[in-house]
This record gives sequence, structure tokens and C-alpha cells, in this order.
Amino acid sequence: MNLIDTHAHIYSDEFQNDKTVTIEKAKAAGVSKIIMPAIDSATHENMLRLEEEYAGTCISMMGLHPCSVKENYEEELRIAEEYLVKQKFIAVGEIGLDFYWDLSFKNQQYAAFHQQVEWALQYDIPISIHSRNATDECIKVVQEHQQGKLRGVFHCFSGTLQQAGQLIELGFYLGIGGVLTFKNAGLDKIVNEIDLANIILETDAPYLAPVPFRGKRNECSYIPYIAQKLADIKEMPVDTIAAITTANAEKLFGL
Ligand SMILES: [Zn+2]
Ligand SMILES: [Zn+2]
Repeated sequence: MNLIDTHAHIYSDEFQNDKTVTIEKAKAAGVSKIIMPAIDSATHENMLRLEEEYAGTCISMMGLHPCSVKENYEEELRIAEEYLVKQKFIAVGEIGLDFYWDLSFKNQQYAAFHQQVEWALQYDIPISIHSRNATDECIKVVQEHQQGKLRGVFHCFSGTLQQAGQLIELGFYLGIGGVLTFKNAGLDKIVNEIDLANIILETDAPYLAPVPFRGKRNECSYIPYIAQKLADIKEMPVDTIAAITTANAEKLFGL
């Protein structure tokens, strides 16, 4: 099986003592590539160092996470843009709107999101969207910028079937992770209605570990558990699930 983890914060502090082991474990589990979403300037360098160390395996996005949009967001955007000018990135991400934790920077979150979508269009690379309590709002922003060239993924998709339909119509993929394995999450029923051509796999490590690791630190090597759950839902061999979702990720990210 050849799998891709399309969203993992493998450079975060949670892995600082066992990064090498974690990446080797992922490779042994069939995860050949790990795509890393950026958060903010506090961790950009850690991410880029890992990309250098594991060239071809760990691949960076660049961007400002909506939860890191604060008073200084313009400075943060300036820093992210400097990186984008200096080197090639696989995508702009993770970007979007998060109205779950904090609503005090709502307008700034919108401004940062719009700005970063523009970067993706300018550099002709995909976007990785983080939306929490804001899926309709994120879809609206994508609609405003979609003139045929914008592409990307709604990472950790947890919306309704109707929202899934809207974002597929916009040319976007659904990033599916550990939540698929959670009892009562209801994502299995939605995913069952969605064509595999629109799905890519992710862990969002260190968060949202799939069953049987729920509640523990998530790792890239758990991607096969998500693939297996998808295989069970679709009643297809897991090898077929792996082949299709990996091809989707390769197409989206130009791998
Ligand atoms: Zn996210
Ligand atoms: Zn993330």
C-alpha cells in the first residue's frame, strides 16, 4: 500500500523526542509522504527544518492558521509571504475560519483568509482549508474567489452532505481523518454517499487519533486505520481505497 498523510503537524512539540521513530513508523505502515500544514511564525522554522531533513517525505505548506490570527496578523502574513517569495511550497495552508474557540478576531480571520486565497491563485498552488463552526462561511469565501483555477481541500471535513456537495462542485476535495472511525460522529453515513474521487486521507496528527487510539497522540502511521474504515464503509478492498485516495492527493498537490 502506498498512502499519503495529507495533513500532519509532525514538526510540533508533541513529536520533539521521537520524530525520527514516528516518521520511520509511518513509512513502515506504507505512508510514503507527509504533507505539513503551517501554523504561524513560532513554528515555520521547525517545519522547514524537518522538510530539509526528510526531503521528499515531509513536505511543507505555508500559511497562517485562523487560530493564530490575532492583533499582529498583518505581521504574521508578511512573514508567511516572505517565505512564499523565497521558496516553493506545495500549498497555502492551513488557512480558513475558526469560530469555535474565539470570535474576537472574526474580521481579521476573514481578511487573512481572503489574502491567502489570493496568494494561492498568484502562485498557482492549492489551499488547505481549516473550518470549525464556519463551514458555510468558508464555502462562501471559496465561491467568491473561484474562477476556475482555485483548488484545494477542506481538511478534517465534518460538514453535512449538502456542504460536501457544494465544495465538490467547487472542485475541492474532502480531507478525511480519524473522525471517520468515531462512533456517533455520523461522518461514515456522509462519506458513504460521496464518490471516492473526491476524498483524500489525513491524520491531523497529533490531534484526532482514530479508533483504537482515540484520545491518544495521533501519528501518521495510523493512516491505514482510516483507509480500512473507508474500505469497510465502501465495501471495497483497502488496496483500492489506498490507490484511489493516493492518486487524488498526487493530483491535487502535483506530486
Ligand atoms: Zn486544522
Ligand atoms: Zn491541522
